[in-house]
Amino acid sequence: MQDEPHGSANNAGNGRLPGSRTVEFQPGTRNLFFHILTRCNLNCMHCYINQEQHGTETLDAATIKRWLGLFVKGNDFLENRGISADNVPEKTNVIFLGGEPTLNPALADGIRAARALGYGSVTVDTNGYLFNDILHKVRPEEVDYFSFSLDGSTPEKNDPIRGSGSFEACTAGIRQAVQMGFGVSSIFTASSRNIDDLPNMPELLHDMGVRRFFIQIIGIRGNSAKKGGAELQLHRKRWETTVPDVVKRCAELGIYVTWPSVYVPDDRQFACAGIVADNYFVFPNGRVYTCPLCEDYPIHTYEIRDGMLVKRPPINEQDLYGLKIPEGCVMNRILHPMNIEYGPDGTPRDRVACCMLKEELIPA
Ligand code: SF4
Ligand code: SF4
Repeated sequence: MQDEPHGSANNAGNGRLPGSRTVEFQPGTRNLFFHILTRCNLNCMHCYINQEQHGTETLDAATIKRWLGLFVKGNDFLENRGISADNVPEKTNVIFLGGEPTLNPALADGIRAARALGYGSVTVDTNGYLFNDILHKVRPEEVDYFSFSLDGSTPEKNDPIRGSGSFEACTAGIRQAVQMGFGVSSIFTASSRNIDDLPNMPELLHDMGVRRFFIQIIGIRGNSAKKGGAELQLHRKRWETTVPDVVKRCAELGIYVTWPSVYVPDDRQFACAGIVADNYFVFPNGRVYTCPLCEDYPIHTYEIRDGMLVKRPPINEQDLYGLKIPEGCVMNRILHPMNIEYGPDGTPRDRVACCMLKEELIPA
């Protein structure tokens, strides 16, 4: 499953709520979003995996281990790229993704390699099928979270989006993981197809023992771009009238919840994660992006060649981050201009936030 923290503007608002706060980009925190294959047993409507761009390789255990080693503290190549010594990350967090990462038989070895290399946290994003008997190959103390993607509270709502039988498989996987003592979270990708069902999710998650919930907005890339993304887009009013109550209900039930900021609040400066954060989106063909919105295009900043991380020449995504535009996120302006509204004088009505920026509400 691929459920890195994407979200495009899609005219949705930020749903700022009393008691919620923006999750700041943390200096000194490195995140590795590691796609260890692109193959999947499902074909979700909103899947962003694009094998023409991301390859079809399944990484073996030795390669996973070697590539994990490129992103830990002490990599001079990354640490000499202009960040101050104070901000050199002590720890890296890894999120194993696919495709469906549990289809890769080397996942358990990869998890253990990350632990041995001192990774700060280890998460596996899964569609819930839990192939290769993964829950019996690793121990709860080796994985911080299995994060399950569920896009509806019933098979009728979820399966048309994610595939027939996927609701049963995912909820069975969640229950098994909870029962075995693993940390479990859940991700809901909101679109016009399922926003009406979002209010039903907190009760379901609570019943299953899930205590962390990530709401994200569909990004019009990969499959959704091919399959008529405009129809899936979520409009601002719908988002603003739905999300606040869902967030409040999660908090009442003791569920930690995050959701995309979408717009930069008036009292905040715009920040691009490509400049101020330390995120790497690694694909099995060796492409390494620093912005998830760019992944349909060969403009990645780095690539892994012969086991080494190398910087690519201009023009790549990093050449674009510094462009200061009144619309906020430059990549959104290039890729999704239809999502930006302008006033009569031609100025944008809102600044679009970085797709990596989140709001959170921590239960009391
Ligand atoms: S589970 Fe769905 S979204 Fe995730 S990789 Fe498979 S097809 Fe794509
Ligand atoms: S703000 Fe920067 S990192 Fe964030 S989505 Fe836009 S271009 Fe990408």
